Amino acid sequence: MPDNKVTINISNSIKQWIRPEIRALNAYHIPPATNCVKLDAMENPYQWPETMVDEWLKIVRDVELNRYPDPSASALKDSLRVSMQVPNEAEILLGNGSDELIQMILMAVADKEQTVLSVDPSFVMYDMVTTYVGMQYVSVPLESDFSLDVDTFLQAIKKYKPVIIFIAYPNNPTGNLFKREDLQRIIDAATGIIVIDEAYHAFADDSFMAEAGKVDNLLVMRTVSKMGLAGLRLGLLAGKAQWLAEFDKVRLPYNLNVLTQATAQFALSHQKILDEQTATICKTRESLFAELSKIKSLCVYPSQANFILFRTAGGQASSIFNRLKDSGILIKNLSPMGGALEDCLRVTVGTPEENQKFLKALQQAIA
Ligand code: PMP
Repeated sequence: MPDNKVTINISNSIKQWIRPEIRALNAYHIPPATNCVKLDAMENPYQWPETMVDEWLKIVRDVELNRYPDPSASALKDSLRVSMQVPNEAEILLGNGSDELIQMILMAVADKEQTVLSVDPSFVMYDMVTTYVGMQYVSVPLESDFSLDVDTFLQAIKKYKPVIIFIAYPNNPTGNLFKREDLQRIIDAATGIIVIDEAYHAFADDSFMAEAGKVDNLLVMRTVSKMGLAGLRLGLLAGKAQWLAEFDKVRLPYNLNVLTQATAQFALSHQKILDEQTATICKTRESLFAELSKIKSLCVYPSQANFILFRTAGGQASSIFNRLKDSGILIKNLSPMGGALEDCLRVTVGTPEENQKFLKALQQAIA
């Protein structure tokens, strides 16, 4: 080391240089899931048929890994427009997962005086990314059945004048769809942008996509993650071109790699297979719901997503979660988040066989 090399005390420097709100965070923890029945992350449990995999491999052979990807991913946007029924009035912006879209939106509006509004509980990334960019996050508690307290939400809009409102529709981690009329009132009252996050749209009965591009302050977000393509990392934002042009300025060039672009386009040309898998998941969700509801000590919440939230007897969630994990079944323990999620666990709808294994292990864990 040269004599004049400045030595840095890392822990002091962290205190000096890393913002206090970042120091206070924990990195987003993804538990290891090797050899587990993986029912923790709202993934689609199904693979593609062998013939489809063979067809895909032929396409992947010709992908030019030595070239940067199409920066605008225009062919993929065209396929997504058809697949997701994006109205002609709306422009499309793509992200490396919808997580990245949340980040782009908030980076573009970041100002520490401004507020981001959502409900509680909801998708944790709204709060986390708001913190990353140094803005204020406010959330309106949901009712005890996880329905939306629309009057309190409207008051919060008046009070905080949020620059961005995020509503997950259906909501994660609760699985329910809020009332459409309530969301319409929020859209009408919003003084900023409202993002309707339809990550779980494939499993739900309703959507705001038909309004995208037609309402000035409405953006509709989707992802392919729940349609069996979580590994690709691809999310979509639809809305007025003027907004998306601003968010596009903070997008890193080439955010969608060549394999994602080629594979997503290929997958969308087999929409029927994706739709069949989704329909199977919806059907299986109903039987899983019925089986869970038979367990007297649980309160099971209806779901329009590919997961089910349930509340265990007081103080039992973590031990049930750990016993399930010991029997090789990984679900999500929400109880440590406290508040309305105390004693709550969330299970992703798996294949019928996976669900049976889960139910059997759950009964043993509760006994
Ligand atoms: N929105 C909601 C409501 C989610 O639950 C998730 C993922 N769990 C996302 C967005 C992010 O999805 P992705 O980044 O995989 O597109």
